Amino acid sequence: MGVSIMKRIMLTGALGQIGSELTMYMRSIYGNDNVIATDLRRQDESKVVKSGPFEMVDVMHPDEIADVARKYKVDTIVHLAALLSAVAEAKPQLAWNINMGGLFNALEVARELKCSFFTPSSIGCFGPSTPKDKTPQDTLQRPKTMYGVSKVSGELLCDYYNYKFGVDTRGVRFPGLISYETLPGGGTTDYAVDIYYEAIKNHKYTSYIDKGTYMDMMYMPDALNAIVTLMEADPAKLIHRNAFNITAMSFAPEQICESIKKYIPDFTMDYDVDPVRQAIADSWPNSLDDSAAKEEWGFKAEYDLDSMTKDMLAKLRKKLDVR
Ligand code: NAD
Repeated sequence: MGVSIMKRIMLTGALGQIGSELTMYMRSIYGNDNVIATDLRRQDESKVVKSGPFEMVDVMHPDEIADVARKYKVDTIVHLAALLSAVAEAKPQLAWNINMGGLFNALEVARELKCSFFTPSSIGCFGPSTPKDKTPQDTLQRPKTMYGVSKVSGELLCDYYNYKFGVDTRGVRFPGLISYETLPGGGTTDYAVDIYYEAIKNHKYTSYIDKGTYMDMMYMPDALNAIVTLMEADPAKLIHRNAFNITAMSFAPEQICESIKKYIPDFTMDYDVDPVRQAIADSWPNSLDDSAAKEEWGFKAEYDLDSMTKDMLAKLRKKLDVR
């Protein structure tokens, strides 16, 4: 890292799957007091609340975002508050309001206060007409889900704030994220987290995603590192802004099952496919081409399926106190 771009960072949606770990990771780099966590709800027992500044902020209220950003004199906003794919499909109107309204409000604060800005897009920004294998950085994006519609619109809005107002917006298209700290918030790839919990607790799992359904995935440590590396990258090298394809692995349910069997030999899996989440998964790419992220800011993932499985099982055994 050269000269640090981020010195005082505010996160929205900081108690979620990404934010709960990103807050702690950023506090370890930038100092506890320089990373301000915010969320709609409060969890007093959470490490996020205990280890540094925490404020209640509803991103639907622009003043609440602006008041906290001013109070702590932040130079960077990491906007994570959103409804995820499966929840958004069940509540499309609410998802549009939160995902787009919240993003707009956060971008406006970034414009007024001259903050750098990060928000994640997703593999959900692609649709059935997108090339499925090695999906290019610049390609067709005609998603058929409200989550996808909000993600494509969000990418465009961030690009607009960059070229119209000069806001330093940056983003990645996250694949399914796998982590042991905080449970996922209702996405299509949640099965790839649930499976590890069930493998440890019951040695069996029923997958709601069908065999042969490939999706991109990433272990949380690689996702956290990607956010900080992109935010600290030299802006002159960034041709793309919102958002970069990134990936660490692409697998189908039967492959994560095989990987778990290497460590838990009597583990078994069957299927009870959920048509809603299966349809979403079928409309997403099988694998992404992440060469633009590699070229423009040196993206690199450390974990593959087997090294992730080994680490997940070890960390979860400890967390769940199962030998
Ligand atoms: P999550 O559902 O785990 O957490 C979202 C957080 O936002 C929650 O703590 C919730 O309380 C908060 N929130 C909801 N509405 C709010 C509001 N009005 N004001 C303030 N906070 C509010 O989500 P996550 O997995 O941490 O995802 C964060 C971002 O990353 C989202 O934009 C999501 O689309 C994106 N993303 C996540 C994944 C993944 O696999 N987790 C993959 C691709 C993209």
